[in-house]
Amino acid sequence: MSEKNKPAAASATPISNFIRNIIDGDVASGKFATRGWGGKPGPAKTHANTPPDPAKIRTRFPPEPNGYLHIGHAKSICLNFGLAQAYDGACHMRFDDTNPEKEEQEYVDSIIHAVQWLGFDWRENIYFASDYFDFMYEAAQHLIKAGHAYVDEQSAEQMRNNRGTLTEPGTASPWRERPAEESLQRFSEMREGKHDEGTMVLRAKIDMASPNINLRDPAVYRIRKAEHHRTRDKWSVYPMYTYAHPIEDALERITHSICTLEFEDQRPFYDWLLLRLAEGGLLEKPLPQQIEFARLNLTYAVLSKRKLIQLVNEKHVEGWDDPRLPTLAGARRRGYTAGGFRLFAERIGVSKADSWIDYSVLEDCMREHLNDVAERRIAVLDPVKLIIDNYPEGQQEDCFAPNHPQKPDLGKRTVPLTRELWIERDDFMETPSKGYFRLFPGNSVRLRYGYVVKCIGCQKDDKGRVIAVHCEYIPDTKSGTPGADSVKVKGNIHWVSAAHAIATEVRLYDRLFKTPHPGAGDKDFLLDLNPDAKKIITAQLEPALKDAQPEDRFQFERHGYFVADLRDTQPGAPVFNRAVTLRDSWKA
Ligand code: ATP
Ligand code: MG
Repeated sequence: MSEKNKPAAASATPISNFIRNIIDGDVASGKFATRGWGGKPGPAKTHANTPPDPAKIRTRFPPEPNGYLHIGHAKSICLNFGLAQAYDGACHMRFDDTNPEKEEQEYVDSIIHAVQWLGFDWRENIYFASDYFDFMYEAAQHLIKAGHAYVDEQSAEQMRNNRGTLTEPGTASPWRERPAEESLQRFSEMREGKHDEGTMVLRAKIDMASPNINLRDPAVYRIRKAEHHRTRDKWSVYPMYTYAHPIEDALERITHSICTLEFEDQRPFYDWLLLRLAEGGLLEKPLPQQIEFARLNLTYAVLSKRKLIQLVNEKHVEGWDDPRLPTLAGARRRGYTAGGFRLFAERIGVSKADSWIDYSVLEDCMREHLNDVAERRIAVLDPVKLIIDNYPEGQQEDCFAPNHPQKPDLGKRTVPLTRELWIERDDFMETPSKGYFRLFPGNSVRLRYGYVVKCIGCQKDDKGRVIAVHCEYIPDTKSGTPGADSVKVKGNIHWVSAAHAIATEVRLYDRLFKTPHPGAGDKDFLLDLNPDAKKIITAQLEPALKDAQPEDRFQFERHGYFVADLRDTQPGAPVFNRAVTLRDSWKA
């Protein structure tokens, strides 16, 4: 479908929110007006790939490449790239790869695919935190020389014990007042790999009595003798995330560094660090501003990389792109659309207050977008034969079905009608329940796009299971002919010609968890997995679906939205995944 490659359009009517208000204020006051590239580079050559365009507003999306992106990340991506579009700025794609142990190229590649799939473009602005390691190291040396950092040789346990509590101040390390020369010496030994992991760390020297524990001399560098996915064995010391992140933002001249609420208490350190480096001439003002917003919490899902990794590693699902998973790779394979995610991000907005979004909000956005972009097709998911006794054997005629009821320009396709059809098993009841309007002996329904038929009975096997329903058609009642309305019926059912149908594997996916808050109350979240989240059936599809291409999406009439599986669809032999049903079956 053409929608796949459409770029994300900036929203026509931007919804105002507190972040936009801050940016509007900064634009009005000219805070970043002088900003632009080509400023004084730091001592390391980290500005070698300085981009030429002097965008005023710069945001970034900074994933750590230690897992696949999930639906929560989509909120952050749409927010950051969306703001850059709205203000004619730039959004940087930045891999925050400061932790050598957990990061892998596979994750980098998957993240790139996911962001591009969502429809966003970072142009030349793709960066890796590891490219700044030289600058970060020199900045740390500067902090030591300026009396703002020291190498602490306490054990991890001693450091923990001396940190104090929320009500008591911390205790200064015995190494806190050591001469800068000594710290510099030790720091370079750490870098050279002369000391074991855990024997010493570099700490910022701020305030052991600060009410904000994050300011009680936080660690900024640690020894790690691990191979890094990009810098290999060049480094034996790695910066802490809280030290690296503000520097990355400042070097890239990010104006608004948007992160989730758990970093609120880190903001004072963020500002402290950048101010110290600016005072030392290593960075230029204006400095980036950190702004926190509430992360997405989604019911019936888990949005934590740790839990997602567990689901994949323990094989509760079939890989990172399992259509049940709330990863973006999984959602894409499931048939969720990039347009649906952008709509979702717009609809949920951003705020400072933590809240839960009901999964049905996401499903509604997918329905809304798919309703617009998906052509209609006919599929019988639980087939039983319908035999039109008075229709001549061997006869065949064309019926015409619109591809999209709201888009006549998409035309109609022909569906062949014959004597033997497949219909849904639940479109027949031998003894109808109250209010049942479909097939039962003596009742008439319309075969959608075909004739009105009157049910005359059924055939059963020895176990009493219905194996065929019999009916007679009423000539002159064909849809689209003058006599179509001559017989009024309440039921309208879909069908496919048995001689033409293609028997196809269809996977009926549902929510991965059966409870809204998986693992709530310290329960193992795995106990809340929905065992019915995947059902495989063989459905009878109309012949036009035979040539579906991977990722072609359709509404199967009366059922929901389905996508030809990205991996398993072969030429002439599609496999379909259900993205979402037409109606919410989870409502209480
Ligand atoms: P996790 O908690 O799953 O490990 P993370 O925050 O550690 O996620 P990162 O790779 O650091 O994962 O995230 C990249 C960006 O995405 C960050 O800016 C982060 O704030 C944002 N992000 C992560 N999870 C969510 C969420 N649930 N809602 C909104 N933004 C999120
Ligand atoms: Mg993180």
